[in-house]
This record gives sequence, C-alpha cells and structure tokens, in this order.
Amino acid sequence: MISANLEKALNEQIAREMHSANLYLSMAFYFDKEGFDGFSTWMKKQSAEEMDHAYQMAGFLIKRGGTAQVSPINGVKLTWDSPLNAFEDAYHHECAVSKSIDNLLDLAIAEGDKATQDFFWQFVREQVEEEATASSIVDRIRKMGETAIFNLDQQYGSRV
Ligand code: MG
Repeated sequence: MISANLEKALNEQIAREMHSANLYLSMAFYFDKEGFDGFSTWMKKQSAEEMDHAYQMAGFLIKRGGTAQVSPINGVKLTWDSPLNAFEDAYHHECAVSKSIDNLLDLAIAEGDKATQDFFWQFVREQVEEEATASSIVDRIRKMGETAIFNLDQQYGSRV
C-alpha cells in the first residue's frame, strides 16, 4: 500500500505529464498553422507519449492501492516566435520534468518505498533521453539557421 504522501506526489506528477501532453499538442497546432507538417507530427507523437506516462503512473498508483486523480491542468502557451523557440521551450520543460521526477524518487527513498523507487528509475532513464532529444533538435535547428544565413551571405556576396 502506497503512503498518502506518495499518492499525492504521484497524482501531482500525473498532472504534470498531462500538462506536458497539452503543451506538446499546442506546439503541434502551432506547427500545423505555420506549415511545418513534420514538426507537427513529431509533437503529436510526443504528446501521446506524455499521456502514456500519465496512464502508466495512474496504473501503478492504482495497483499500489492508491487513487489516481484527473486534476485540473493549467493552460499552455498557444504560440511561439519560431520552431527554434518552441523546441527551446520543450527542452527547458523536459529539464523541469526531470527535476520533479528526481524529487519524487527522493521522496520514495526517504520513505523506504522500494516499489515506487523501482517504478520511477525507468522515468529517470526516460528523462535522459527526453532532454537529449530536445537538445539535439535545438542544436540542429540552430546549425541549419546558420547554414541558411551562410548561403544568403554567399548569395549576396556574389553581387556584381
Ligand atoms: Mg513524460
């Protein structure tokens, strides 16, 4: 049986995962509007993955005798300045999620709840991938941006 304290913390994490799902869906809609179909598809998959995290956590909580809640979810941003700006936000968001997972694990360790520790280690590993993926997309967009500027520079430099 999970403690009331951990049950509360897990429900807060479920809400964060659902908030992540909404944030990435909002980014997908932004990309759709701007004509970036590929980024939109990517973000819709990312959103579905976050909902799956919420389902997994709810399933675990229920197995441990707790009650999984659907909490009110805060609103999310509707627009971004550029794809780079959206992916930078996604990266910072994932870093914040990693911190909250770490805090949950710390709580499970403090309580000596081995099953919750075991369950959350997979999310510690998952967050390593999430941060690395978002960071690598940010890097790629930045480099492509530089390439575009480089091409423009060459183009205008060849003026006769
Ligand atoms: Mg997640």
